[in-house]
Amino acid sequence: MYDVIVIGGGPSGMIASIKASINNKVLLIEKNESLGKKLKLTGGGRCNLTNLKSIDYFMKEIPINNKFLYSSLNKFGPNDIYEYFTNLGVPLKIEEDDKVFPMSDKSTSIIEALNKEMILNNVDIKYNEKVISIINKDSYKEIITNKDKYKTKKVIITTGGLSYPNTGSTGDGYKFAKDLNQEITTLYPAETYLITKETLSLAGITLDNVRINYNKKRIEGSLLFTHNGLSGPSIFKVSEFVYKDLINNKYITLSIDMVPNYNDNELFNKLNEYDQKKEVISFLKEFIPKRLIEYIYKEIDTNKKIVNISKIDKQKIISMLKEFKLEIKETGSIDNAFITGGGVSIKYINPKTMESTIHKDIYFAGEILDVHGYTGGYNLTIAFSTGYVAGISCN
Ligand SMILES: Cc1cc2nc3c(=O)[nH]c(=O)nc-3n(C[C@H](O)[C@H](O)[C@H](O)COP(=O)(O)OP(=O)(O)OC[C@H]3O[C@@H](n4cnc5c(N)ncnc54)[C@H](O)[C@@H]3O)c2cc1C
Repeated sequence: MYDVIVIGGGPSGMIASIKASINNKVLLIEKNESLGKKLKLTGGGRCNLTNLKSIDYFMKEIPINNKFLYSSLNKFGPNDIYEYFTNLGVPLKIEEDDKVFPMSDKSTSIIEALNKEMILNNVDIKYNEKVISIINKDSYKEIITNKDKYKTKKVIITTGGLSYPNTGSTGDGYKFAKDLNQEITTLYPAETYLITKETLSLAGITLDNVRINYNKKRIEGSLLFTHNGLSGPSIFKVSEFVYKDLINNKYITLSIDMVPNYNDNELFNKLNEYDQKKEVISFLKEFIPKRLIEYIYKEIDTNKKIVNISKIDKQKIISMLKEFKLEIKETGSIDNAFITGGGVSIKYINPKTMESTIHKDIYFAGEILDVHGYTGGYNLTIAFSTGYVAGISCN
C-alpha cells in the first residue's frame, strides 16, 4: 500500500510527488514514456516557468476564479518558484514583462531538475502506464491501470486538461472526477488564435502594441496576422471570450486600436503638424506597415497630399487607425489551444489544501482545475503552486 499516488507526471504532478514524499511513500504514474512532455514544449521549448509580477497584477492575468489561488500563491508563489529552482541548481533569468526562464533557454533543465529531485526523494515512478479508474473504498483507494492495481491512502490527480492531446493531456482526469461526482464546468479553448470571416492576405504582419476593444474588455499586447486570421498575445487573451460569444452568434466583431498610445485628438493634431506637402500614406507609415495601409484604406486615396484632404476625411483616416473592425467566425479548437478553460469545479475543492470537499484524501491540482491564466508564465505558476499545496497537504 502506498501513502500517496500521484496520477500524471506534468509540472503539477512532479512537484506534488516531491512535496508529498516528505513523510510518505509515494508513487507517480505517467502514461507517457517520460515526464513533462507538455512542459518540454512550453515557452517555445524555453519554459516560461513563472512571472514575477506583484500578486495584485498577477491576479488580473487570471481571468477566472482567481481568488481560489490566493492561499496557494501565498504558500508557493512566483518568488518561491524562482527560489525553489535556483536552489535545485537551475540558474534562472528574468526577461521582458517579468517572465522567468531557465538561463539555459531549455525547458529540459526544469524537467531534469524535478526528475532528479523525485529520485532523491525516493518517489517510485511508473512510465507507460495509464490509469483507467479510481475506486474510492472506505479506508483506501484502488488505482486501476492498464497494467496493474495499486492501493493507496491518498491520491492526487494531476492529469492536466485537453489541449495538445499528443502530450498525454487527453482529459482522462475529468472522467475520474465525474465518476467521483465532482462537478466539471464546461470545457473550452483558452489562449488560442482567431479565424476571420474574410481572408485578409495580411499573413506575417506584426503589430507590436494594439488595444483590442471587445465588449467591456480592453486588452493590450502584440498582434500577428496569419493566413486565416489573427494570433499573438493580445488575441490569445481575448480568444476565450470570443469563443463563448460565438456559441450563440455566427460572427462577432473585434475593434482593434492600432495606435493605443494616442487618442483621436492627439493623432489629429499630429496629422496637422505633419509636413502637409507629404502624402497621407507617409504619415500612416509612421504607425502601421504599408501592406496593412493598402488593405485598410482601400476606399481612400492615401497618395493624396495631406494639404488637399478635408477635415472630415482626416477624421475618418484617424478613426480607421483607432477602430479597425474585423469579423471573427471561429477560434482555434481545444486541441490546439494553449490551455483548456473550465474543469473540476473549485466549488468543491479546498483552496488551502486542494483536497476535494466531497471525498477525503482525494486531491486535484494543475490545469485539471477550473482556473487558468493568460500566457506569460501564469499557467505553470498555477500548476506548480497548486501541485505544491496538494503534495504538502498529504503529509
Ligand atoms: C505549446 C504550449 C506552450 C505553453 N507554454 C507555457 C509557458 O511558457 N508558460 C506557462 O505558464 N504555461 C505554458 N503552457 C501551459 C502549461 O504547459 C500547462 O498549463 C501545464 O503544463 C499544466 O500542467 P499540469 O501538470 O496540470 O498538466 P500537464 O502538463 O498536461 O500534465 C499532465 C500529465 O498527466 C499525464 N496523464 C494524463 N492522463 C493520464 C492517465 N490516465 N494516466 C497516467 N498519466 C496521465 C499526461 O501524460 C501528462 O504528462 C503552454 C501550453 C502549451 C500547450
